[in-house]
Amino acid sequence: MALFDKIGIVGLGLIGGSLGLAIKEKKLAGEVIGVSRKVKTIKAAVKINAIDTGSLKLSALGGCDLVLLCTPVKTILAQLTTMAPYLKKGCLVTDTGSTKSEIVKTAGGKLPKTVDFIGAHPLAGSEKSGIYNADGGLFNGSLCILTPLKTSRAANMKKLSLFWETIGAKVKILDAGKHDEIISSTSHLAHIAAFSLVNSIPYGYLRFAASGLRDTTRIAASDPELWSGIFLTNKKQLLKSIGAFQKQLTEFTHAIRRQDEKKLFAEIKKAKLKRDKIPFTI
Ligand code: NAP
Repeated sequence: MALFDKIGIVGLGLIGGSLGLAIKEKKLAGEVIGVSRKVKTIKAAVKINAIDTGSLKLSALGGCDLVLLCTPVKTILAQLTTMAPYLKKGCLVTDTGSTKSEIVKTAGGKLPKTVDFIGAHPLAGSEKSGIYNADGGLFNGSLCILTPLKTSRAANMKKLSLFWETIGAKVKILDAGKHDEIISSTSHLAHIAAFSLVNSIPYGYLRFAASGLRDTTRIAASDPELWSGIFLTNKKQLLKSIGAFQKQLTEFTHAIRRQDEKKLFAEIKKAKLKRDKIPFTI
């Protein structure tokens, strides 16, 4: 069922490429055009049938009725401004960025009143990046958070929700600030913890690493450009989450220093009970 005549995907990496594949599989668009910065990426996206045609220029988005911004967060912020002159009247613009407050604020200020904007963050993905890791089933069983503007149209909220549901996601609507507060704990802090954990281990010891380290550090293999942009666009909330984590590390430090077995037992048990109850979305 084609929900849109022409969809434009900007950024043909893991998320943009996977969206293209899912759109094609579910026949959600009459035509899919991709915009990227490298000819090589566009050729790869056409080859796997994630897009019909591609361009290096945002002006190619001219005839689209849905535009999906799937570049790194800082690039999305810049593209919201540079793409504005090319968007047709009535176009719905959305994104997949992992932080939402700055994106929603910029979209509200920079996009023309003739187009609509709704922020989106699919809670699906991995430490892998690029078109070669795209997977049309990536969003199956996941959660997608929508963060509308005050001016976002109800009919477009319905249409975008249906879009995500058709490719396998459950939709939840949140205020952008609340999104950033929650995700700073559940995702951004988890990445800080994984990066810090790996960096604190001496190189020579790594050949003794086993499944515990593999499971706790998978996301430390994530893309540096992508993640530094995410951290800097969620600074306030992330610093709060890091503070809570440092407090927790201090609890362990004190308990170990004081040989306080009861306290250690209590902290580990609290974590185990909590971990056992996490309703992972994918
Ligand atoms: P990715 O695999 O690195 O893909 C990013 C794509 O953007 C690449 O294809 C890259 O092009 C393109 N790009 C970068 N700068 C560009 C520019 N200036 N103009 C045009 N294209 C440009 O990253 P991703 O994982 O798909 O992430 C995309 C977005 O989704 C990010 O905002 C991220 O925060 C969000 N997100 C990621 C995940 C995850 O788990 N990975 C989950 C949810 C949301 P080239 O191919 O030419 O390098």
